[in-house]
Amino acid sequence: MPELPEVETICRGLSRKCVGSTIVSVHVHRSSFVRGPSDPSDLLLGLTIARIVRHGKQFVLESVCGRVMLFHMGMSGSLTIRPFQSERAAHVHVHWVLIHNGKKFELHHKDPRRFGHVRAYQSMQIVRNSVWSKLGPDAIAITAEQLRLNLLDRKFSIKAALLNQSILAGVGNIYADESLFQTRIHPLRKANSLSFLEIKKLVHNLQIILKSSIHGGGSTIQDHRDALGSAGTYQKTHQVYGRHGEPCVKCGAVLRKIVCAQRTTVFCPACQKLNRSNKTRT
Ligand SMILES: [Zn+2]
Repeated sequence: MPELPEVETICRGLSRKCVGSTIVSVHVHRSSFVRGPSDPSDLLLGLTIARIVRHGKQFVLESVCGRVMLFHMGMSGSLTIRPFQSERAAHVHVHWVLIHNGKKFELHHKDPRRFGHVRAYQSMQIVRNSVWSKLGPDAIAITAEQLRLNLLDRKFSIKAALLNQSILAGVGNIYADESLFQTRIHPLRKANSLSFLEIKKLVHNLQIILKSSIHGGGSTIQDHRDALGSAGTYQKTHQVYGRHGEPCVKCGAVLRKIVCAQRTTVFCPACQKLNRSNKTRT
């Protein structure tokens, strides 16, 4: 699933190539992929893109008149810039034709697993008030103090807390496992048992990892492509995710796999110790 770094790489490409372009046609190939009113004019037909704004794993294309499209990438979504009249690949559910300085190109929204969607809103403010107000602070900007406050009274595991988008937005399975390993915190630790020092280290490590991944174009496990169609490279840097049964890069112990928060979770039993009093089952 695209997490914050993968979505950010898409947004950076769109910011470079689409801002200032005008949408000249909208083609909906699977109507269920467009939520809310499905009139093409709602998908910014005729409008010029002013900016791209991301929060967590979601992002918005905002037009110069203030109307926006909100994108959820789901489990396998991508939004790719393609040449004008290029062949439409399988699972492209919506595409837009844009024009910039007299030159046309296309934007293809592809999603093989179909958990994503796009929805139009009248303004950025409505998105912030109705959709993004339910999300926690963006993971790349959250402070240790904000995370500390959001973990108070959370008796479930720290892994479940990191995946909970209302606590912080943007982290999924990859970056939860990688940041907990880097901070030597067991994924089953109760979220409210972390000291402030541990929370500070966790936020610090998480943000370094997220920024490194963005720098590497994100992690491409199956489907991720940036807006220009390139795969990411950060999967080569993963220290625990997808490496169960292999040796820990720090101590050589065999990495273990458990199910935590209904997600496969990989950790080092030697580097990430668990005290019985701090343990939770979720
Ligand atoms: Zn280890």
